[in-house]
Amino acid sequence: MSQQDAVSGQVVKWVYKFEEGSAAMRDMLGGKGAGVAEMTRVGLPVPPGFTIITEACRAYLAQGERFPDGLKDQVVQSMKELEKKTGKIFGDPTNPLLVSVRSGAKFSMPGMMDTILNLGLNDLNWKGLATQTQNERFALDAYRRFIQMFGKTVMGIPGDKFEEALRAAIEENSVDSEAKLPASALEKVVEKFKAIYRAETGSEFPQDVWVQLYLAIEAVFKSWNNKRAIDYRNLYGIPHDLGTAVNVQVMVFGNMGEDSGTGVAFTRDPNTGEKVLYGEYLPNAQGEDVVSGTRTPLPIQELESTNKELYVQLKEIAQRLERHYKDMQDIEFTVERGKLYLLQTRSAKRTAQAAVKIAVDMVREGLIDKKEAILRVEPEQVEQLLHWQIDRSQPVNVIARGVAASPGAATGKVVLDADTAERMGKDGEAVILVRPETNPDDVHGIIAAKGVLTARGGKTSHAAVVTRGLGKPCVTGCEAIAVYPDKGFFEVDGQQIHQGEVITIDGTTGEVILGEVSLVEPKLSSELQDLLLWADEIKKLEVWANADYPRDAKVARDYGARGIGLCRTEHMFMEQDRLPIVQKMILSETRDEREKYLAQLLPFQREDFKGILSIMEGLPVVIRLIDPPLHEFLPSWEETVEKIAQLKAEGKTGPELEELEQLKQRIESMREFNPMLGLRGCRLGLLYPEIIEMQVRAIMEASCELKASGHDVRPEIMVPLVGTRGEMEESRKIIQNVAEKVMDEKGVRVEYKIGTMIEVPRAALTAGEIAKAAEFFSFGTNDLTQTTFGYSRDDAEGKFIPRYLDLGILSDNPFETLDPDGVARLMRIAVQEGKATRPNLEVGICGEHGGDPRSIYQCHHMGLNYVSCSPYRVPVARIAVARAAIEEQKSVAMTA
Ligand code: ADP
Ligand code: MG
Ligand code: MG
Repeated sequence: MSQQDAVSGQVVKWVYKFEEGSAAMRDMLGGKGAGVAEMTRVGLPVPPGFTIITEACRAYLAQGERFPDGLKDQVVQSMKELEKKTGKIFGDPTNPLLVSVRSGAKFSMPGMMDTILNLGLNDLNWKGLATQTQNERFALDAYRRFIQMFGKTVMGIPGDKFEEALRAAIEENSVDSEAKLPASALEKVVEKFKAIYRAETGSEFPQDVWVQLYLAIEAVFKSWNNKRAIDYRNLYGIPHDLGTAVNVQVMVFGNMGEDSGTGVAFTRDPNTGEKVLYGEYLPNAQGEDVVSGTRTPLPIQELESTNKELYVQLKEIAQRLERHYKDMQDIEFTVERGKLYLLQTRSAKRTAQAAVKIAVDMVREGLIDKKEAILRVEPEQVEQLLHWQIDRSQPVNVIARGVAASPGAATGKVVLDADTAERMGKDGEAVILVRPETNPDDVHGIIAAKGVLTARGGKTSHAAVVTRGLGKPCVTGCEAIAVYPDKGFFEVDGQQIHQGEVITIDGTTGEVILGEVSLVEPKLSSELQDLLLWADEIKKLEVWANADYPRDAKVARDYGARGIGLCRTEHMFMEQDRLPIVQKMILSETRDEREKYLAQLLPFQREDFKGILSIMEGLPVVIRLIDPPLHEFLPSWEETVEKIAQLKAEGKTGPELEELEQLKQRIESMREFNPMLGLRGCRLGLLYPEIIEMQVRAIMEASCELKASGHDVRPEIMVPLVGTRGEMEESRKIIQNVAEKVMDEKGVRVEYKIGTMIEVPRAALTAGEIAKAAEFFSFGTNDLTQTTFGYSRDDAEGKFIPRYLDLGILSDNPFETLDPDGVARLMRIAVQEGKATRPNLEVGICGEHGGDPRSIYQCHHMGLNYVSCSPYRVPVARIAVARAAIEEQKSVAMTA
C-alpha cells in the first residue's frame, strides 16, 4: 500500500520543520507543534525540530500499527537537516545529536504521554558528550534520565523501579537530592538502570539510536489509544479520531550546572490576573523536575535579583508573546549556560477572577476589543465570582461531604428547625439550617439562614432549588450525618454536634466543616462591572429577574436587571401572618364570606406590590396572578386525620374537633387526582373571580398611589396557565373591569399591560389567537417542559432522567437546558404567530432556563425581548446575552 495524495499523486508530506508550520496549523501539528512553529516563525529562540502530523498517527493506527509509507524516509531526511543545523551527528560517538520526542494533540491532554528527553545516547557516546562538554557528571545524568524515561514511557516499566534505585543511590552517597550525586555514583546508577531494563523487558537497552527514535515515535502514536487518554477524551468531549502529532526537537540542557536551569512562566498571575511575570525556576535541572516536586523551585520573581539579565529577557519575551497571541501565555523554557530557549507556549488556564481582569486589562492595553473580552469570560466563571468562598490558604476540618447543591460557602450556628432559624436570623445571628431534608414548611427558616445542610436529597431536592433561587449555599444528600431535631443535635462519625455549635458548609464542593472558617467576599470587581457594561452595549436580549419580594428585586436591580419578569403572588400568601387568613378564605362556604377574608388580605398584597414597584421604578414588573391549587395552602390531609384521631383518643369532643372534621372534609373535597393538571392557574381565577379581583385591586391601588406621589410605575398583570383564547379573554375582562374601577376611584391613570404565561402546548400552538387578548407572553418553561414531555419534574429528575442521559436517549436534562427540538420549537411557533397578530407583542422567558447560558442562546435566536432569571444569575445572564449577540454577528460575517 503506498500512501499518496489522491489529487497530486505525490507521497504525503508527513513531516513539517518547525519553520514550515504556524499557529493556524493546529489540526495537523497539534497544539504543541503549532506553538513551537509559531514561536520559530516570529524569531524567538526555539531549539530546531520537526513535527510528524496527526494524520500519520491516524494512518499508523488504521494500518495495524505500521508506519505509513514515506514516513521513515522523511524522518531520516529531517534528522539529517537537524544535523546540518547543529553540526552534530545522530549516534556519533564523539559529537552526538540528542533530541526530545514529545507528543502533542490538537487539544492539550495532560498526562497522555510523558516526553522522552536526551534520546540518542548510548554506552559509547555518553563519554563523547562528557568530553565534548567537559562535564562527565552532566553526561551521565542525561543518560540515566534517558534510560529511565525510555524504559518507563516506551517500554512500560513501572517508574518506581527506577526511582527506588535512584533513592538508594542518594542514601548511599549521603546527599539530599539527585542533583548532588557525583559522577561516579551516576555511573553506577546507569548500570543499575540498564539492569532493571534488562530484567523487565528481557532485552538489552537499545544501542542503535535509530531504533530508539522509531520506538519512541511509535510509543507516541500508540499512546493515543491508552486508557488514560481515552478516559480524558470522554471526560472533556474530545473526539477519538483526531490522533496526536509527534515533535522531535534538538535538546537543550538545563542540567549543565548552576548557570543552567529550567522553568515555567505565566505572562500574568493566573490567580489574580495581575500583570506580573509569574512562575517557577529550578537551576541545574531538566524537563519536568520543576513540577515533579522532588526539589523546591524558586519563585520566578527571585530571578530579578539573582539573574537580572535572564529575568528581563523573560519579561520581554512574555510581552512579545502576549502581543502576538493577544492572550495570556503559559510558557516552558530552559536556560543552557546562560542562554534562554523557549520550549512551549499555550494560552494559560486561569481562575474566574483572573479571566475577568485579564480580559478587561487587555482591552485597555489595546490588545483586544470589547467583544473579544466578553468572549474570553465564560458565563459560569461570572457565577463563581458571585459567591462567598472559603479562604483556602488555611487548614480546615472537614467532617463530612455531601452533594454540592448550591454554590458558595457560609459559616453559622447549627439550628435544627426552621422556626428557631427564623427567630435567630431575625436577631441578626448567622445560622446554618440542618435538616434531614426540607419541605415548603421550612422556607421561612431557609430565608433566615446563611446556608442549608440536609442529610437527604440531591441537586434538585427542595433545599437545593430554594437555596439556588435565593443564592445561598447548600449541601444536600450528606448521608454521613444523622439529624435529630428533637434531641437537639446531629451526629457524624459518632460525634454529636449540638444546636448552637458553629459549622461551615461549602456548597461549591459539598464539604461540611467543623468550626468557623474565614470566607472571601464576593465582589463585583470594577473590572467585572466594566465588562458587564460593555456586555449591555452589545446585547439584543434584555435581562430581567424573577423576584417575589422587594429584597430580591433590590438585589436584581443592583445586579443590573432591567425589569421583573416574574413576581409570584402566592408566596405572599404563605407568609406567617397571612396564612391563617388565606386558609379561612379557602374554607369559606360562600362568596360573601370569602370576600370578607380577601379584604383582609388586600392591604398586605398592596404593600408587597408597592415595595417591588417602587424599587423597580421606571422598569416593567410582571406580576402573575395566583397559580397553585388552593389546597396547597391548607394543612395536609394526613396531619389533620392524625390530629382528629388524637383528640378522639383523648376523649375530647366539642368545637375543636368539629372544626377539624370540617377542615378534613374541605381538604377531601378539594383533593385532586392530579393537582398539576387540576384546578389551578387561570382556571382557579375564573371559578373564583373574587380572588383575582382582590389581587388586581391590590396591584392597581399600589400603582395608582405610587403614581400619584410622582413615581413611574409599569405593572404588567400576567394570567397563568392559559390554554385557550376564551380563557384569556374572560380573564382579561375581569382584570380590566377592576383596573378601570380602581383608576376611576383614585382619579389616576396608570399604563399597564395584561398578558399571559405560555406554559402549555396548546397556548403555544394557538398563540396567534391568544395574542388577540394578550399584550405580552412570558414562557413558563418549567411547566412548558413538563407539559410538552409529559414528565413531572420531581419524578423525572429523581428517577429516569439520569438513566436517559446515560443511555443517550436525552442529550441534556430538559429542565436545565431548553429542549431545542420540542419545547423550543413550540416557543418559536408562539413567537411567530403571536407577533403576526400583534407586532409589538412583548415576549420573554421566566422559567429557570432564563438563567442558563445555553438556553439563553436559543432565546436570542427566537427573537425574544428578554430573559428573566434569579436575581443572583443576572450578571451571568448579562454576559450570556452579549455572547449570543457577538457570536451571531460573527457567524453572519462568516457566511456573508
Ligand atoms: P508536557 O506535554 O507534559 O508539557 P513537554 O513535551 O512539554 O511535555 O515536555 C516535558 C518537559 O521537557 C518540559 O519541561 C519541556 O520544557 C522539556 N523539554 C521538552 N523538549 C525539550 C528539549 N528539546 N530540550 C529541553 N527540554 C525539553
Ligand atoms: Mg507531561
Ligand atoms: Mg510542556
